[in-house]
Amino acid sequence: MLNLRNAGNPTYKNWTAIVPCRDASCWWICCLDQSQASLSQLLISQILYAGVCATDVEMTKGYREFHGVMGHEFVGRVVSPCDIADQLVVADINVRACSPPCDPCGHDRSAHCVARSAIGIFGHDGCFAEYIALPRQNLYVVPPGISPRLAVLSEPLAAAIHVADDIPSDPVGHYPLSPARPISVAVLGDGKLGILVAVALLTDSNRKFEVHMFGRHRGKMAVAASFGANTHDADEETRRRWSFDAAVECTGRSGGLSVATKMVRPKGTVILKTTVAGGGGDIVDPTFIVVNEIRIVGSRCGRMSDAVERLRLVGGLHALISAVVPLRQGVDAIALAQQGGVLKVLIDCCDTDDILRSELDP
Ligand SMILES: [Zn+2]
Ligand SMILES: [Zn+2]
Repeated sequence: MLNLRNAGNPTYKNWTAIVPCRDASCWWICCLDQSQASLSQLLISQILYAGVCATDVEMTKGYREFHGVMGHEFVGRVVSPCDIADQLVVADINVRACSPPCDPCGHDRSAHCVARSAIGIFGHDGCFAEYIALPRQNLYVVPPGISPRLAVLSEPLAAAIHVADDIPSDPVGHYPLSPARPISVAVLGDGKLGILVAVALLTDSNRKFEVHMFGRHRGKMAVAASFGANTHDADEETRRRWSFDAAVECTGRSGGLSVATKMVRPKGTVILKTTVAGGGGDIVDPTFIVVNEIRIVGSRCGRMSDAVERLRLVGGLHALISAVVPLRQGVDAIALAQQGGVLKVLIDCCDTDDILRSELDP
């Protein structure tokens, strides 16, 4: 454990991290030799917890060819001298590098910066490590009262909250809704992201959503049910004719898009969240989509500021965390995250459980 109080950027040279070997078929833990020049414009945070995400698992199967440090969900503590030194932070994964600002950045859409990198996915080292170096603009301070183990959920929660941005208030166009009627949404998939999407919709303070979750694990869906989701076995997706206003595809498998298009009513919206290695090869019926005028929307990252605010208001998400594994066993954590019934696996990157529990998680 380094002495954080004395730590400025110049003292950081080597840190332990998980990186894939050349063909991404195996992983190892190594000591990074950081170029000090490359760190000089960045703020260093000590990682407390990092979360293993379905995207990380897909990357081990070749979703992205990336040879840096893996991981993009974390909560850390800033150790560089700066205006937010020593504070707990989470991060927007999109690191913009345009100069002057590109069109998306000029319109506050830096997730689509033409010169962006994404931490732990492409172009920028990630957070399965003792430390991460990021621009100040990527960091968001975690408000007091949110435990680090919950704060690590900010990045996937932001992505889940973003789903509501793509569901129109009049979701079916020429079928007028009565103001009192909730917007009905099917969530396909009972993984971490599916559950967070259900929770995000059910805790939306602006609009009322009725959420139906389709999955295979009763235990996992119980988390969403505790927030008011109706739960169904995945077999029911195709067993009857549904007419949801919107369907959110979070299955993590190919094949979900074609099922989702059949579950919405005419002029309904399908929101795609799944990223799979090899593109998936889903076979959709274009004629069905045209005849029923279905909107299909891809959806990725959300606003971190929304997520930390929502975490402050929403309790009950501790049930999403299945296990906490030390960094030195981080490769096992990625394997564990793929086991049936397992939800979020956290990597404890600096013995946080041992050292900081009394300070941070009273
Ligand atoms: Zn993720
Ligand atoms: Zn840009």
